Amino acid sequence: MRATVDGDLCIGCGLCAEICPEVFIMNDEAIAEVIADPVPSEAAEKAREAAASCPVEAITIDEQAD
Ligand code: SF4
Repeated sequence: MRATVDGDLCIGCGLCAEICPEVFIMNDEAIAEVIADPVPSEAAEKAREAAASCPVEAITIDEQAD
């Protein structure tokens, strides 16, 4: 699984980094960044939850990619 963040959409709410800090961090510009690529299997469920929780749907999950 791969996760990507569209930095143009991200409003910097911090929710993804709170839900799944293994995969998402907030960078110096308060935009979310992916730090685990591919997403480790043990973090997959939380990464999906983070994507579903993003208020602006800035996170894309590719289940097929490894
Ligand atoms: S949940 Fe969405 S808007 Fe909030 S920091 Fe993460 S990517 Fe950005």
